[in-house]
Amino acid sequence: MTEAILTNNVFDIAIIGAGPGGLCAAHALANQGFSVGIFEQAHVLRPIGAALGLRDMGYAALAEISADLAHQVRALAVNPKRQMLMRPNGEVLFADESPLAGTSFTWLGWYNLQTCLHKALPTTVSFHLNHALTGFTRDSHQGEKLLRLQFRQQEDVYTRLLIGADGYNSVVRKITVADGAPLYTGTMTWRGIVERKNILPLADPFVEAAGFQLVVGEKKNFWIMDVGTELIAWGGTALHLNQGKSVSALETVLQIFQQWPPLVERMIRATDPKAIVETGVFDREPVPQWGDGRRVTLLGDAAHPMRPYLGLGTTMAIQDAVALAKRLASTDLGDSEQLGIAISTYEQERIAITAPLQRKARHTGAESHADDHADRLKEELVATLAARRQTEQKY
Ligand SMILES: Cc1cc2nc3c(=O)[nH]c(=O)nc-3n(C[C@H](O)[C@H](O)[C@H](O)COP(=O)(O)OP(=O)(O)OC[C@H]3O[C@@H](n4cnc5c(N)ncnc54)[C@H](O)[C@@H]3O)c2cc1C
Repeated sequence: MTEAILTNNVFDIAIIGAGPGGLCAAHALANQGFSVGIFEQAHVLRPIGAALGLRDMGYAALAEISADLAHQVRALAVNPKRQMLMRPNGEVLFADESPLAGTSFTWLGWYNLQTCLHKALPTTVSFHLNHALTGFTRDSHQGEKLLRLQFRQQEDVYTRLLIGADGYNSVVRKITVADGAPLYTGTMTWRGIVERKNILPLADPFVEAAGFQLVVGEKKNFWIMDVGTELIAWGGTALHLNQGKSVSALETVLQIFQQWPPLVERMIRATDPKAIVETGVFDREPVPQWGDGRRVTLLGDAAHPMRPYLGLGTTMAIQDAVALAKRLASTDLGDSEQLGIAISTYEQERIAITAPLQRKARHTGAESHADDHADRLKEELVATLAARRQTEQKY
């Protein structure tokens, strides 16, 4: 990996964004011999975010990129063992083995996934931090028709193909699809991770050792989970009219969850205030095309932002990366007709899978702040665990 500016170099493929989708695409495409540059707006990769869910489908997609990579990621993830559900006043509704214990479901720290994918990048990938894309134009360079990418306070870069993996607020999408701002769902989220050593002693079996604690209140929820490694993750959601960032995410989240169970405040206060990620939950209507049908396409949240309630956002991003790499495998990037066909085929294939999930996630999301959410969740947890135990007895 190099930090040199490659002004005179022309990349086969430039990827915008080093989230899970962009990094997986960089792996998959570099493995096929393309020259790949990845450009991330962050100045450093630092421990932020909380945790995300991955199950068989996600690992299978990673294994298509590299079995070793899938193995490395799996080693960082944990299968939930215990779950507690409670109300903000401390009333415990469910405290038992997690219905997900023993299944293929795992969670892992967003940061752990990002650093794992980053460290394992093939050395041929040119990786650039502090590169916020601001726009691109069509341009001729040394007699070849290319895209010229502009970055904030950085030199321009040329590429044959541009992939926008730049998240739900994608700059690439603003130019190609031009469908306006993503749709705010009315829910704000705050996410954090805490080093285990900064919160000890936890003395709470429903957080330590792969535990998951969920507190469901009136129009707001808070969860804490052990994500293995040395990190404990937390997240809060609340129905909130204001979708903008607050002056202090720390003060806002403390205020929203004040007088909730003491562990909630302990988790928030043990987090580096600068590492609290405050974002709205956004989605979009599915669209029939992501790119320009010629030299630009999208993947992951940039292509199909969905509400997080199905836990499939990352899996979809990894699958996109694999599908795109397959379509490009035998494509001559210098042949715009061939390239256009490969991109369109990839987009149609993936839109058929992701559009129904975007709609389903919207429906599921609407329920998570319903008045009877805690009671319904309790019923669901009890029933799922009972069904699982019954099946285990039979075999
Ligand atoms: C900091 C962060 C923390 C997250 N934490 C969680 C979490 O705890 N749990 C969860 O389920 N999901 C989390 N997500 C969302 C999750 O990663 C995605 O929903 C899903 O994995 C799809 O990933 P993606 O790579 O498509 O998009 P993202 O993960 O959103 O990655 C997009 C990347 O593009 C970069 N970027 C954006 N605009 C530009 C630009 N103009 N130029 C260059 N780079 C740009 C961003 O900095 C980011 O690194 C987080 C996302 C981010 C950015």
